[in-house]
Amino acid sequence: MMKVTDNVYYCPGRLFDSNIFIVASQGELVMIDTGTGIFYEELKEQLKKDGLSIKDIAKVVLTHVHVDHSGGLAKITEESSPEVLVFHKEADSVENGGLLTLADEFGIPFTPVKVHVQLKEGDIIEVGSLSLKVISTPGHTAGSICLYEPREKMLFSGDTVFTGGSFGRVDFPTGNPQQLVSSLRRLSKLDVTYLFPGHLDIATGKGSEQIALSLKYAELMISP
Ligand SMILES: [Zn+2]
Repeated sequence: MMKVTDNVYYCPGRLFDSNIFIVASQGELVMIDTGTGIFYEELKEQLKKDGLSIKDIAKVVLTHVHVDHSGGLAKITEESSPEVLVFHKEADSVENGGLLTLADEFGIPFTPVKVHVQLKEGDIIEVGSLSLKVISTPGHTAGSICLYEPREKMLFSGDTVFTGGSFGRVDFPTGNPQQLVSSLRRLSKLDVTYLFPGHLDIATGKGSEQIALSLKYAELMISP
């Protein structure tokens, strides 16, 4: 875990794992994405070094159901009972598994987990003094979301937009290239300083420039 802002801890993804983020404010902890779960013990060790514990995490939010982001959820719920928040379009896959998890493609088991809150566009997830706004960003998957914190200008972007001009694959089930471009256009209108994507490096400044670059490349590669 690296503390990358006053309120955000970052665990860079290893192998297939997604990046894992923990937003902390006024003693409240919210985890965004969980990785595959393969490195769960290491994650717990890392948390311990920062004086944190899995049991302190009040909520887990998934940016989408792909197993590299969601596989660790079952391990967390085995020893703790955080509230699980998932966009409504992918809640069924989290609760029942199946094609959309990509467990077969990755060869990584997915254990279904109960969803407590089915998120909708515009929902606000409060974390202490911060508020994470749910933005529906279909394209990588139909139920992909980003979370935007307007005060700190942070965007948790899942697999919709990455740093370095990259953006999410659109060839998985429910993926849609035109929707991805539309989602990037929408994100490009946000004022983003910190870009916290689901894979690759984070950006701790000029996040909006990264999004603009990804939009430019996506528009070049994906014809309308
Ligand atoms: Zn994905």
